[in-house]
Amino acid sequence: MIKENIQEFKSKIPENVTLVAVSKTKPIEDLQEAYDAGQRILGENKIQEMVDKYDALPKDIQWHMIGHLQSNKVKYMAHFVDLIHGVDKLKTLKVINKEAAKNDRIIKVLLQAKIAKEDSKFGLSFDEIDAILTSEEIATLQNIKVVGFMGMATFTEDKEQLKEEFSSLKKFFDTQKSKNSDLEILSMGMSGDYQLAIENGSTMIRVGSSIFGNRNYNE
Ligand SMILES: *Cc1c(COP(=O)(O)O)cnc(C)c1O
Repeated sequence: MIKENIQEFKSKIPENVTLVAVSKTKPIEDLQEAYDAGQRILGENKIQEMVDKYDALPKDIQWHMIGHLQSNKVKYMAHFVDLIHGVDKLKTLKVINKEAAKNDRIIKVLLQAKIAKEDSKFGLSFDEIDAILTSEEIATLQNIKVVGFMGMATFTEDKEQLKEEFSSLKKFFDTQKSKNSDLEILSMGMSGDYQLAIENGSTMIRVGSSIFGNRNYNE
């Protein structure tokens, strides 16, 4: 089924949209099946789990960290992580920069914007993102590159609300992009809302359960 799901997604999403297959909590065999179907970008939300899977699987997989980061664990993935989606503190950017430097790498990151109305979601306000991107400090962090933003919409069926949340981030993204040519990725959309996210400007969707099936516990 995983293979068919991947093929179906590939055929139905536009060419300019990148699919991140979110494999968190799933066993190695499932990830291998996705790999065999041609999927090369996998997303995980726990650093240790991602490291274990990285060690076990082919090395041309691009690993995306989509979960909230624990700074003290960044060092375990700094040698291989391809893109970190959910950064919402300057302090975390500094930690990533330091660990990237130790590995002689430049690590790409997305700043997480708070677009959901719920209180529980992490993320920065648009003003806070702007402050980070224009800070003197960010210019000194030579081993990270902010390449875009990530947003998670409210868990709701209300399409108007979802549309409003996604399009507000798209609008902010476009404004920032006109000042900063590094910005190229807008990561929005999951199994339940990726269509609306794409309609409203997403360039990267993070799809878990629609590819791998339901997880045993919720994240
Ligand atoms: C788990 C997770 C996803 C995938 O969720 P699905 O609903 O299973 O597609 C996407 N983004 C983040 C940040 C996640 O933690």
